[in-house]
Amino acid sequence: MEWANATKYNSFNSYKGLTYYGNYNQIMRWMREETDYLIPPVECNLDPVAECNLDCYFCITQRYLRTHREEVGKMRMLPTKYMIKLVNFLAHWGVRGLCISGGGEPTIHKGLAEVILHAKDKMDVAVVTNATLITDELAEALMECRWVALSIDSADKETYKTIKGVDLFSKIIYNIAKLVYFKKKTNLPVDLCFKFLVLPENQNQIYKACQLAKELGVQDFHARPVDFERNDIKGHKQLSINMKEVEGQFTKCHELESSKFKVYTVMHKFDSKFHVKHDFEKCLASPLVIPILQDGNAYLCVDKKMERKFKLGYCYPDSSKILSWWSSNKHRKAIKNVDVAQCSRCTWSQYNRQIEEVIIKDGMCLSFP
Ligand code: SF4
Repeated sequence: MEWANATKYNSFNSYKGLTYYGNYNQIMRWMREETDYLIPPVECNLDPVAECNLDCYFCITQRYLRTHREEVGKMRMLPTKYMIKLVNFLAHWGVRGLCISGGGEPTIHKGLAEVILHAKDKMDVAVVTNATLITDELAEALMECRWVALSIDSADKETYKTIKGVDLFSKIIYNIAKLVYFKKKTNLPVDLCFKFLVLPENQNQIYKACQLAKELGVQDFHARPVDFERNDIKGHKQLSINMKEVEGQFTKCHELESSKFKVYTVMHKFDSKFHVKHDFEKCLASPLVIPILQDGNAYLCVDKKMERKFKLGYCYPDSSKILSWWSSNKHRKAIKNVDVAQCSRCTWSQYNRQIEEVIIKDGMCLSFP
C-alpha cells in the first residue's frame, strides 16, 4: 500500500498524469509533426544555485556540485532580478507551477524569499529544501507555497551525520518546528512534507522517522527508494534493501495516519526490490516540465540536469528567448533521440507510460466514459 484509500487523490499518485490529457494529446501531435506548436509546460523546475552545504553521498546532482564542477561553468547562481523577470515571463506563457529546488540547496540563495513572494500570486509555488537554513523571513515566505518538501532522510543525529556528512540534525528539527509554528500562526494551506529516501543506512528507522514527523506536526510523511543506480554518481551500485523489513515498517507508518497527518510510501516507479525499472519505451512526457538551471540554460528533464547533450536551449539573460527553441525541430529531435535504456530512474516514467497506453493505444477506450 502506498497510501490510504481515503487519500488516493494525492500529489504522489502518478494517475494525476491523466489530468494532463490535453497536454499529452498536443505533445503527441507535435511529436508526429502534425503541428509546429508545442503547448507550454505545466511546471518550471528552477534551480537558483549550484552550491550545497551538505554532503549527501547519494546526491543525484553531485557530479556538477562536487566532482565535475568545471562542467557547470562560471555561472553558479541566478540573479534575483533575473528570476523575478523569469517568473513574469513564465506566468504570461501559461506555466502554472514553479518548483524551486536543486541541484544545489535553494535556501543558500539570498533572494529566495523575494522570488517566492513575487511568484505566489502568479502561479503555485513549491520549494524542496534540506531545512538547514530557514530564517524567520524565509519561513514566513515559505508559508505562501503550495507545498514545501523537507529532505531529512533520517530519524536521529547519528544516521543524519552518516548519510549527509554534517552534524546538523538538531538544527533541522528546530527549523521544522519553526515552519510548523509559522503554519499555525498564518493558518495558510501549505503542506509541509517530511521526506525520507530509503537507503541501506536508514532502512531500519523509517517508522521512527515517521513518528518524528508526526510529533513535529508536519502534514505529510513521504518515503521512497533512493536512486543510487545512475552511473554519474560516485560509487553507484545496486542497493541491497531488506524488503520484508521495509514493507513491515511502511505498514506501521500507515497506522500513524490521522486526519491531519498523511503517509505516502511511494514505490511504483521502482521494481519490487527498489531497483530502477522502465515500463515504458519512449520519452514523451518531458515537455510537461521545463527545468531551468543556474547556468541560464534549460534541460530536457529533471533527471538530466547539467548533462550537455540534454541541454535544450538558453534562457538567460532574456527569458523570452525560450520561445526561440521551445517547439523547434531541435527540441523534437532531442526528445526522439533519448535512449530510455540509458536513463536511470525516470521521474516522469508513469506519465510516459500513460501517453503510450492511453493516447497511442487508447487502452482506456476514451470515447466511453
Ligand atoms: S529520465 Fe529519460 S525517459 Fe525520463 S524524462 Fe528524462 S530523458 Fe526522458
